Amino acid sequence: MHKKLFIPGPVEVNAEVLQKFSTPMIGHRTQEYFDLHARVRHQLQQLLFTHDKVFLSTSSGTGVMEGCVRNCVSEHVLNLVCGEFGERWHEIAKLNGKSADALRVDLGKAIRPELVRNALSSKRYDAVTLTHNETSTGVMNPLAEIGAVMKEFPDIIFMVDAVSSMGGAKILVDEWGIDVCLASTQKGFGLPPGFAVFSVSDKALRKAAMVPNRGYYFDFLTFNEYDAKNQTPTTPSLPHIFALDYQLNRWLAEGLERRFARHQQMARVCRQWAIDCGFALFAEPGYESVTLTTVKNTRNIRVGALNTELGKRGYMISAGYGKLKDQTFRIAHTGDITQDDLKELLGVIDALLEQSNVQGSGV
Ligand SMILES: *Cc1c(COP(=O)(O)O)cnc(C)c1O
Repeated sequence: MHKKLFIPGPVEVNAEVLQKFSTPMIGHRTQEYFDLHARVRHQLQQLLFTHDKVFLSTSSGTGVMEGCVRNCVSEHVLNLVCGEFGERWHEIAKLNGKSADALRVDLGKAIRPELVRNALSSKRYDAVTLTHNETSTGVMNPLAEIGAVMKEFPDIIFMVDAVSSMGGAKILVDEWGIDVCLASTQKGFGLPPGFAVFSVSDKALRKAAMVPNRGYYFDFLTFNEYDAKNQTPTTPSLPHIFALDYQLNRWLAEGLERRFARHQQMARVCRQWAIDCGFALFAEPGYESVTLTTVKNTRNIRVGALNTELGKRGYMISAGYGKLKDQTFRIAHTGDITQDDLKELLGVIDALLEQSNVQGSGV
């Protein structure tokens, strides 16, 4: 039986979207592709409220994170870390030979703008990385406020991992001064994994031109050169682009505001459900994610048993990430999941919480 996915990636993919993946291939150096490419880029610019370039990458999101470090960090980078995905930026920076400092906050807490200002005032950095929505803890960082601090340091490149928020949360790339904003497709976009999109500012492109050893596959200047011709440097995953075109078209027709409001509504429903069940939220108040809810397992239920029982009924949620495996569990409400889908899942969990094999001491 197929399990409907409520895990924070990959998310459930609708049947019509899956069907776009069997569209017959076209040549990627043909007018038909150039038109598709131009259309998708334009739609992505609308989604991100930006006039910046938006590039298409046949890779997972992590590939573009590495690209960011290779292109926009000449020496010192500050990694803002509030969970596992922030740690990943830090790891990537170190493995690429950059001098990287991690600014960490406790798990469940958000990165505060004052912290960023203090760090940037005390040492010269050429770039900052931020995880907008920390998928391991369910914290959504105050991106607009951090962006406002970044504007006080106009020479520094601001790079944002929006893998688990783009498509579900409103991100104003231009207004918030984001130089690179990246996401893969298997979360908010409601598509299969294996593809990523990223906006790049002119400032970031100018920076890249001064950074040596950008590598081959993720050289932003090469992406820019090809994008100017409505192309990608290498053969792209055309099925993803067909499906992305379909999704973005639908969203823009539906109205982006409605899409973002639906995410906020689902998040409110999920948080309230958790509280009503006697659980708590892992994220600190005011910084809870709108695309996933990380529930603190204060009832010490057996999360593994819950998921096994859910699986028998055709659903799947996620245990906590890494160190938080048994202390939390995560429910994603993004992509094409609707409020009805979410309520159906929560109803099934309610019934399972009555079962003795799910109750008991899971921690
Ligand atoms: C899922 C996720 C990633 C990793 O994305 P891939 O496409 O698997 O490389 C990075 N950052 C965040 C915040 C994520 O949620």
